[in-house]
Amino acid sequence: MNTEEIMNLDKKYVMQTYGRYPLALKEGKGALVTDVEGKVYIDCFAGIAVNNVGHCHPKVVEAICNQSKKLIHTSNLYYTEPQVELAKLLADISVHEKSFFCNSGAEANEGAIKLARKFTGKGEIIAMENSFHGRTLAMITATGQHKYKKGFEPLPEGFKHVNYGDIDAVAENITDNTAAVLVEPIQGEGGVIVPPEGYLEDLKKLCQQEDVLLIFDEVQTGFGRTGEMFASQLFGVTPDITTVAKALGGGFPIGAVLANEEVGNAFEPGNHAATFGGNPLACTAAIAAINALVNESMLIKVKEIGGYLKYKLEEQAKLYGIVEEIRGFGMMLGMELSINCSEIAAEAREQGVLINCTADRVLRFLPPFVIDKGQIDTVTCVLESILQKLS
Ligand SMILES: *Cc1c(COP(=O)(O)O)cnc(C)c1O
Repeated sequence: MNTEEIMNLDKKYVMQTYGRYPLALKEGKGALVTDVEGKVYIDCFAGIAVNNVGHCHPKVVEAICNQSKKLIHTSNLYYTEPQVELAKLLADISVHEKSFFCNSGAEANEGAIKLARKFTGKGEIIAMENSFHGRTLAMITATGQHKYKKGFEPLPEGFKHVNYGDIDAVAENITDNTAAVLVEPIQGEGGVIVPPEGYLEDLKKLCQQEDVLLIFDEVQTGFGRTGEMFASQLFGVTPDITTVAKALGGGFPIGAVLANEEVGNAFEPGNHAATFGGNPLACTAAIAAINALVNESMLIKVKEIGGYLKYKLEEQAKLYGIVEEIRGFGMMLGMELSINCSEIAAEAREQGVLINCTADRVLRFLPPFVIDKGQIDTVTCVLESILQKLS
């Protein structure tokens, strides 16, 4: 099928929930993807921070192929080796001891809220304005952006919102019934918003003082995206619960709620479940993806090549007045413009570079970690030609 045929079938048979780009992808390798017309693109978005280890990483492919011949699914009525192996690996690379496995970021956040309520016996959750936590009913409620909630009321109770970065507002909103504070250490979809100096540290102190759990939504920032395995390490802050998904499975759908032992033990048999959660195929893919991150020293590349990309973007910011700010860590970078950026992303796509425009005016860069300097040069060259025309 060509692009047009695929688009026509999508229009007829798929619910039109996505504002898709007119692009049908067929193959991916490393930092490159190819569309059905045979055109090759440098991917600077990695399936929204999912393909961290690159498209079709050979070890992930091999793991999925081998496991799929042995056992694909069992349900959680039985034990499997890949699930316990992955749980142990997550305990090794994170500050947490216990995992609950699910299938997506929203589902991980739902699990985290249930766990926090079960552990504390309290109901209220404090979340942030401009946040993003997923699309289930409770998670559009937790998300601090009106556009995701409109038309889907009534929404569940128990969520309050305060401005991200305002520690006093959190303190003022904590009550005797507050279970947890839910925060993205770096807001992703909201425009790559980095926390003010000391904010997450203060948040941790406040939560400890007030006996409130601190939940980090690391669905986007997790697994090396910021140059550390988890963004919490950038700030030296240990949350009580961390939610992960996106990059965990190297492209295969899987999510998890991670918690310290005491909190994790609040869940008892029957409290929470997911039919597909932690199934052997997903866990095998995740083990291979994490091992690739670690064994191929990818975090060093994230810092090095991500730093190079940030430097090149900063150079452009000096040259072109429409660039207001460059933000972010590692390979999670945002270029805030004074104008809407969707046309820029479209023009870059024409020229063979996939980037994303979020929060209207922020170009978001989330490349696979295997991207090389030459590819970064091509990306910034394409971007520069577009910025030049607009300035
Ligand atoms: C993408 C994202 C989610 C939602 O993940 P899904 O897998 O789409 O449910 C939640 N939180 C953050 C920070 C995200 O970036």
